[in-house]
Amino acid sequence: MKHCTNCGREYPNDKAFCPVCGVKLEDEVTSKPEPWYQQWLSVIMGTMSLIVAWEWNWEWGLILAISAIILGYKSPNRTAKVLSYICSAVTIVLIIHYLIS
Ligand SMILES: [Zn+2]
Repeated sequence: MKHCTNCGREYPNDKAFCPVCGVKLEDEVTSKPEPWYQQWLSVIMGTMSLIVAWEWNWEWGLILAISAIILGYKSPNRTAKVLSYICSAVTIVLIIHYLIS
């Protein structure tokens, strides 16, 4: 499909100009893939939550773990998603263990 940048109407690929406005038709823009750091941000966050909960304080660790789960949920990368869930789960288990002991 091609679309007119002026009126937004869609036309088949064999058309070169919009018959309504005479504007040159552009190819349908495919959405750009997310950069690697955005895909892996959830994993970085998950790992950080673990370090923060272990070394610093559990409240911040918990906040980071929850952020990592939310980011992981939104991430299109399946591996990053699973890894961020695992890191966050370990952090949460660690926090629970710390709080009950
Ligand atoms: Zn048009």
